[in-house]
Amino acid sequence: MAKFIFVSGGVTSSLGKGIIAASLAKLLQARGLRTTIQKFDPYINVDPGTLNPYEHGECYVTEDGAETDLDLGHYERFLNIYTSQANNVTTGRIYQTVINKEREGAYLGKTVQVVPHITDEIKRRILLLGKDDTYDVVLTEIGGTVGDIESLPFIEAVRQLQWELPDEDCLVVHLTLIPYLKAAKELKTKPTQHSVKMMSENGVNPDIIVCRTEEPLNHDIKRKIAQFCNVKQEAVIEAIDASTIYEVPLMMMHEKLDLICLKKLNITEYNEPDLTRWKGFLDKLKYPKSKVTIGLIGKYIELQDAYKSILESFIHAGAMNECKVQVVNVHSEFITEENVAEKLDGLDGLLVAPGFGHRGIEGKIAAVKYARENGLPFFGICLGMQMAVIEFARNILGLENAHSTEMDPHTPQPVINMMEEQKKITKMGGTMRLGSYPCEIKENSLAYRIYGTNMISERHRHRYEFNNDCLDQFEKAGMIASGTNPATGLVEIIELPEHPFFIGVQYHPELKSSVESPAPLFVHFISAAKKHNERSISTRNALLISELI
Ligand code: GLN
Repeated sequence: MAKFIFVSGGVTSSLGKGIIAASLAKLLQARGLRTTIQKFDPYINVDPGTLNPYEHGECYVTEDGAETDLDLGHYERFLNIYTSQANNVTTGRIYQTVINKEREGAYLGKTVQVVPHITDEIKRRILLLGKDDTYDVVLTEIGGTVGDIESLPFIEAVRQLQWELPDEDCLVVHLTLIPYLKAAKELKTKPTQHSVKMMSENGVNPDIIVCRTEEPLNHDIKRKIAQFCNVKQEAVIEAIDASTIYEVPLMMMHEKLDLICLKKLNITEYNEPDLTRWKGFLDKLKYPKSKVTIGLIGKYIELQDAYKSILESFIHAGAMNECKVQVVNVHSEFITEENVAEKLDGLDGLLVAPGFGHRGIEGKIAAVKYARENGLPFFGICLGMQMAVIEFARNILGLENAHSTEMDPHTPQPVINMMEEQKKITKMGGTMRLGSYPCEIKENSLAYRIYGTNMISERHRHRYEFNNDCLDQFEKAGMIASGTNPATGLVEIIELPEHPFFIGVQYHPELKSSVESPAPLFVHFISAAKKHNERSISTRNALLISELI
């Protein structure tokens, strides 16, 4: 059986528990241990698939089609492994299982209660990934903040496991905040003391305290935290603000977080951490040789977490190109045919984001038109690809009323249509076309040059698709379907061969981009943006010279 590390959080949310957990997992993995992470979320939705991005940021989709919390994206990007449905469990899913069992009669005669029934189900799920011999260490991030009513059953489950498992098989890392009071010029430990006290009242004593801080922790502060939180001084870890999340594993290594865990878990066989590729990536990220500006056209841009995987993919692809990617958010609701040139001025590339519903659609279409007509590198993802299809239908094929039946159910020209298998579905949760599907790529296409192979597999999350009845018409006019699903013929990739770089994909390539294997589409998009930038500079210079002459 695997060993278990629990990561809890105190004082406030948004301290970066997911990043600390992923960083620790990365270090253990780099030392040769087979490691995975799972997240337990205290909300009652069965999964985050039905949540608006404004609530919890993007919904991350795994290979097996689970709609999960965005922290799973961090786990995959850091560890370069695939997670699955088993890696994300919510209170809703726990209750659903227990209630279904109750209806089946599994607890006949008994009163079903939070303790022991809900806590038993939490424990069963926690232990699941560590059961066979797949992993040496399983990290479990407990969502929410200690002290929240809804976190209590999870903390209780951890308490029971700490008691049930051998001492050396589990440990608790507690992440807290050490605020800095500018006026007093002092770091304050009291909130941390209270949060650890609250844990202890619930029977859980953290083994390691990781302290988020804006200022370095000196020896005295560390000692004070250790003394009042009942941990060894070496187990007080400083997590100072980093310039990039990708630096955190190295900072945690410097603080010896991994070694302290190994010691407590009595793991004696491990290597020196091999982080060569990680450091290579960081070097390129920190010292770029060029810069491009990419417009991200979306309707949730006020909340950066809504496009987390896309933004991280830009970081991976930028490093690969030794190029700083500056992302400019452009709200699709405020783009019109009249102001589009002004709004998109100075960009080296345009990414039209995924999304649902009507809001901001016409702005996205206007942006696609601008990119198509001006040779601006264009990359459309899911809804972004569908908008490229509609734009082409309206402005090149002359199908003035072309639309998606998602936005206009009665459109006479449904170039984007609901998938057949979706038409019978009435329930909302987990019912889209989800997860990984193969895609066959045509040779001699841009997609083929990007992927370097004719068979790929990418993840999906959508209900609508390209209407294949129109395919001939599109291809004759110059928009080709360069990637299709081999079994169903669903169009997966569209492109304009005449354009410097114009590609739209029905799937989500951002979900498979990691530090060690950046998504090829992003890498090539950034490289196209670099070329565009160089072209713009030389045109500008030529203009300047001609003015001087
Ligand atoms: N709303 C579109 C669909 O369901 C696109 C979804 C998306 O962008 N993920 O097909």
